[in-house]
Amino acid sequence: MKICVVGAGMAGALLAWRLVTEHGVRVTLLAGGARPDATAASGGLVRAFERDPETARLSALSLAELRTSRTLREWSGYRPGASLYVLPPATGPAPAGTDALPPTAEWCDARRLADEFGLRGLPEGAVAVLEPCAGHLSPDGLRRAVITDLVARGADVPPDRLRALSFDGPEGGVSYLTGTVRGTADVLVAATGAWTGPLLRSLGVPDDGSLRSKATQCAVYRAGGLLPPAFVDETSGLYGRPAGPGRMLLGLPTERWGAAPGTVRFLGHEERAVRAAAGTRLPRLSLGRLLHPVAAVDAYGPAGRLALAPVAGTAGRLFTFTGGSGGSAKLALAASREAASALLARLSPGTPGSGPAPAATPISRRETS
Ligand SMILES: Cc1cc2nc3c(=O)[nH]c(=O)nc-3n(C[C@H](O)[C@H](O)[C@H](O)COP(=O)(O)OP(=O)(O)OC[C@H]3O[C@@H](n4cnc5c(N)ncnc54)[C@H](O)[C@@H]3O)c2cc1C
Repeated sequence: MKICVVGAGMAGALLAWRLVTEHGVRVTLLAGGARPDATAASGGLVRAFERDPETARLSALSLAELRTSRTLREWSGYRPGASLYVLPPATGPAPAGTDALPPTAEWCDARRLADEFGLRGLPEGAVAVLEPCAGHLSPDGLRRAVITDLVARGADVPPDRLRALSFDGPEGGVSYLTGTVRGTADVLVAATGAWTGPLLRSLGVPDDGSLRSKATQCAVYRAGGLLPPAFVDETSGLYGRPAGPGRMLLGLPTERWGAAPGTVRFLGHEERAVRAAAGTRLPRLSLGRLLHPVAAVDAYGPAGRLALAPVAGTAGRLFTFTGGSGGSAKLALAASREAASALLARLSPGTPGSGPAPAATPISRRETS
């Protein structure tokens, strides 16, 4: 069995690593060369609480693996910390998607949010989920360490980009072409983030248009006063986390749909909106100089999270593993483990789960980082 994974962002690197370390598969990871990808820019917030049950399940599994693996903690530069997830006022007995809180999480009311964490001006009835054991990691650091490990294990990780492919390989496999080599594999997985749509079109593969792209912008500021822990405030869109002593990363969702992957502009008016939102929600935080602007593009798919999907019309030889949707650093560990198993099950006829992939249930994910 030989699998070619294209793209060495967090998704591709971890999928290749799972295939090699947990299934002994021969993997070529086309690393694509250094480009400003979502993994390099990611804020790396991790937590177990999410509104969507499947996203929550994968996030909780990922956090549990991270917290119990010394290797992963070191590779990813994991920084434990609390997480606050502020929900809008309930329209029913409880806010949607909050039936089951993660085991260590607790509700936090507006008074405690104001007194302890300095969060003010919330709509009447807003509450938060407080997780004491969450934090953040470096997706870029984790990706680099995983690639180093793959190379040490003898995996083939050329810095090449996929340029062309055909499905006439030996025994019905895939033949692919980079700038320097021609290769073959039983199956190819495009873990190419926001590049995936344009890549599929350039390869002449039918593209159903279900993958979109959007820019995310945030920044690291010098900060004083009362610094909150990592937080997401659904009522304003503001999110952030401490970024070292006297520093805070803050951002707001953008509406820059269709952004071209790669280098993307950091916009002044979006940055001013972040300062304004922080002034309202976090009046005890004093924001100083902007230290580090961040803007990058992620892929958004129908599942609303990183997911494996077969590409129609390619006889089960081409898959995508993408759709991070601005928030999949927190679930990439579990998603890659499950994607590796699902991929192999589909390649081994007769194995449970080897039938057609279930269609992803479309959800509209609130962008929360
Ligand atoms: C600014 C920002 C902040 C974020 N913050 C958070 C957060 O706090 N918490 C969270 O959970 N998530 C966060 N996310 C989301 C998360 O980081 C992404 O979902 C995740 O990193 C996506 O990884 P990826 O591997 O799918 O894509 P990418 O990291 O974009 O990687 C795709 C890779 O494919 C390569 N490639 C493309 N075309 C080819 C080709 N033809 N041949 C070979 N290689 C190719 C590219 O070079 C790139 O390396 C954030 C995202 C952004 C942009």
